[in-house]
Amino acid sequence: MEYKDKVRIAVAIASLAAISILFTSQYRRRRKQKCLASSCYLQSDSKPQFAFKRVLADNSFSQFKHLKLQSSTNKISSNLHPYEPEITAFIENPRVEFEFDMYTSIDLKEMNDVYVWVETESRLKELADALIKERFFAVDTEQHSLRSFLGFTALIQISTQKEDYLLDTIKLHDAMGILSPVFADPTICKVFHGADNDVLWLQRDFHIYVVNLFDTAKACEVLSKPQKSLAYLLETYCGVATNKLLQREDWRQRPLSAEMLQYARTDAHYLLYIAACLIAELKQQDNDNSTHPDGKLHLTLEASRRSNMTCLQLYTKEVEDFPGESAALSIFSRHLNGQGGSSVSCEMQDLVRHLCTWRELMARLHDESLRYVLSDQAIVSIADKVPTDPTEICDTIAQADMNVDPMNLNSSLPSPSPVVCSHLDDFCSLMQESKSNLDDIFSVLLQKCLGKNGSCPLSVYNYALLANYDMRPTNRSVSRKNGVKNSRQFARKASRELFVQKFSCKSPVYHNCRIYANDGRLLCYCDQRKLEWYLRRELAKLIDANPPAIMLLFEPKGRPEDEDNDFYIQSKKNICVSCGEGSHYLRYRIIPSCYRMHFPEHLKSHRSHDIVLLCVDCHEVAHAAAEKHKKQVAVEFGIPLFVRKVVDSREAPALPGLPSSMINAEEAGVSPLQLRTAAMALLRHGSSMPPRRREELTQIVTQYYGGREITEEDLKRALLVGMSPHERRRFEKRGFSSKYSSYNILPNNKKIHDAVAVVKSYNENTSEVDTPDGSQIIQADPTDVKEDKDYFTVTDNNSSVCSNLQVTAVSASAYKDMNLDENEISDIKEISAVNTYENCERSPPKEAVGINYPRHDENALPENNSKLSLLGHGPHGKLVVEHILKEYGEHGIHQFCRRWRQVFVEATHPRFLPAGWDVMHSGKRDFGEFSVYNPANNKSTAKS
Ligand code: AMP
Ligand code: MN
Ligand code: ZN
Repeated sequence: MEYKDKVRIAVAIASLAAISILFTSQYRRRRKQKCLASSCYLQSDSKPQFAFKRVLADNSFSQFKHLKLQSSTNKISSNLHPYEPEITAFIENPRVEFEFDMYTSIDLKEMNDVYVWVETESRLKELADALIKERFFAVDTEQHSLRSFLGFTALIQISTQKEDYLLDTIKLHDAMGILSPVFADPTICKVFHGADNDVLWLQRDFHIYVVNLFDTAKACEVLSKPQKSLAYLLETYCGVATNKLLQREDWRQRPLSAEMLQYARTDAHYLLYIAACLIAELKQQDNDNSTHPDGKLHLTLEASRRSNMTCLQLYTKEVEDFPGESAALSIFSRHLNGQGGSSVSCEMQDLVRHLCTWRELMARLHDESLRYVLSDQAIVSIADKVPTDPTEICDTIAQADMNVDPMNLNSSLPSPSPVVCSHLDDFCSLMQESKSNLDDIFSVLLQKCLGKNGSCPLSVYNYALLANYDMRPTNRSVSRKNGVKNSRQFARKASRELFVQKFSCKSPVYHNCRIYANDGRLLCYCDQRKLEWYLRRELAKLIDANPPAIMLLFEPKGRPEDEDNDFYIQSKKNICVSCGEGSHYLRYRIIPSCYRMHFPEHLKSHRSHDIVLLCVDCHEVAHAAAEKHKKQVAVEFGIPLFVRKVVDSREAPALPGLPSSMINAEEAGVSPLQLRTAAMALLRHGSSMPPRRREELTQIVTQYYGGREITEEDLKRALLVGMSPHERRRFEKRGFSSKYSSYNILPNNKKIHDAVAVVKSYNENTSEVDTPDGSQIIQADPTDVKEDKDYFTVTDNNSSVCSNLQVTAVSASAYKDMNLDENEISDIKEISAVNTYENCERSPPKEAVGINYPRHDENALPENNSKLSLLGHGPHGKLVVEHILKEYGEHGIHQFCRRWRQVFVEATHPRFLPAGWDVMHSGKRDFGEFSVYNPANNKSTAKS
């Protein structure tokens, strides 16, 4: 650091200290008890949840772990619904006729003064014993969410025909598992009203899963009732009025007020009777419809089915790519009236983001809700006024909250909150450091709050936050494992720039040529090539030159407006759809190629909707989310991403790729590409590799073969694993599989490995970026390579590079035309085996790169064998698509696509998507213009 800088910082610190002293005294006068700026308010404020010992959903960024049943078979690392089979069985084989007959015995029972308050474990056990004998009981829960990050269940109401029970789930928090068996018992029907949230809350707090549910709200839906609120049902069926405003009370308070007790009991007490009434109506209607062939029990079954579908939901923690990101975006759209703020300055946007991140970390740390820590309106106001000293900051917040809530309806909310007050110093530095790296600021902040002698108390809620900070779901941060961070960052930046230069699209992707229908209506935008195609065939005439526009001379099959979707007539901007970056962009495939390539042809025809432009950074974020989601898909469908041969036999077939030969774990196993590249490297350079490297690669192959010792034959067979028959044929045609026999994996060139032994393993310090074709670029950190050079490797989507094979893609310019198909792209993508320690290329050449053999190896393989495709995605994508098609047909594929769009939207929060872009996009549109044009196979069906 320069001396001048040091002085500047010292001055800044001194003045900050002076200001905070000033502020503290002034502020104390206003809110005496709240403002203890020197220590965290939690040192004196105790919250009931801090007594919980068993917290299933903590405030860390880690995924929520669902209950794992001992009896479950596979599920080594799965996070599935533990009772999914039971619930599915229930949905498929409902016994409603038998079950629901029981309800005829239920009468309306007035609510007397007698109820059972359950707050001890022994009482809870008694209750469990009582409930197990029931055929049905009613349930409702009350939550507390203001003074907790994820919220917790403060009260559970259970009513049987005889009794109303109120469970103090704060006192009983750690013991509530006692009730799990009753809730999971399929022979006992649980009646809820509007169970969607309750079902998730019970999972989140107690690992309680509901099996056999009757949801009175779902029954209302099926019966097409004018309303489906509980208040309506209570009124209509029981003549009871209820004040729903009470649901917003602080349900932590003890004892509960008489009013709250009354409210809580009412929510469960009448439910059984209401259920009985609704079931009678369902049955009545079914009887009336029984002339209809499948009318029997139709509505009753439907109500039961819809109810139990609710039970299949799984609680998840919200995931965002950076803490506070989604809140910031919601503030932009709600408060700063812009599509990501064309009207809002970058500085203001940055400040909003910083404040949202700070708020979220503080909320997680202190287990408070976001709105308790700092309101949205306060964030907007601060970002607008940019107050710098503590007094100003507090005034700005108080004023903003007052303006929004002049009646002081949220009177219980102190403004500014104790969190802000007791961490004002952080807040001030946040304002001042708004330009520096968020990651750095927040890791420092976390250390300060929770680290050794941290300012804030550690609790079950925030403990894992500190431990797992680096594991939070983002890949924007740079690895900060050791002290070489700066040089790393520098190197990373350099290679990023090179990457952008090499791989981003060289010319605008969207030419914005227009195509008009013969009646002059705009049909869509397209590129120059497409336009020329029409003109050459005299299917259209040029009506405008700059930018060019044509009018079709035939009537297209459909019009954009037919589909209620103006996506195709939007002029697409050549900017990153996520952040608006315009200087560079890459194509991003929202639906990963490994699935899409297996879709039926006609479902592939609407690619433009699902290919968007992203800048390198957003590309990285989107890609990481997609990779993560692939793992989830793998778990959900029980189709692993990776393959492993489990048969420990040399005679076993060499090409697995069948589900039975895989293990059902997402992590175990090897990705096919990883396996193939490792095998290839060993066959090629095994003899000349550093022993450590050879060992690593051997490990990979060994893992695939279930741990047994491997032979050269095994290596050769591994070269074909996961390839489609087509890929395999192509591979074999190139004559590779027969070329290895002369290679020995035993070391024989001592000189070379001595020379290379100092080179570090390749994959340790790499970061992954997506390339325009959806494959991955591994940016090796130049500081970790002997020769200080940048290079890139590309691997297939499912894998990470684990060999010193350097795989290079052709530069993006080679397939800049959007109409190139994935298959064409994979055809031109080549792998080059570059011995990285021997021969680092300065940059990937423009066209496909041939293999650069290590010099000592030069004659070993003839140059004409240099091009080799090791691509192919392994069986995962294909199996998933086949499964979906078989089980759910094309509708399933559309659903699947929507899911990927959702993943994309949640990961990147795109602010610049063309209007009309839609997660729900059906892909049904197929107006003439699209079906006509297909330069790839040159078939014209025009005027058909
Ligand atoms: P209920 O079963 O309708 O009493 O609602 C259960 C819980 O949901 C309540 O304890 C509240 O924590 C929460 N809740 C439901 N609706 C609202 C609302 N409009 N505002 C705030 N909290 C609500
Ligand atoms: Mn309730
Ligand atoms: Zn604190």
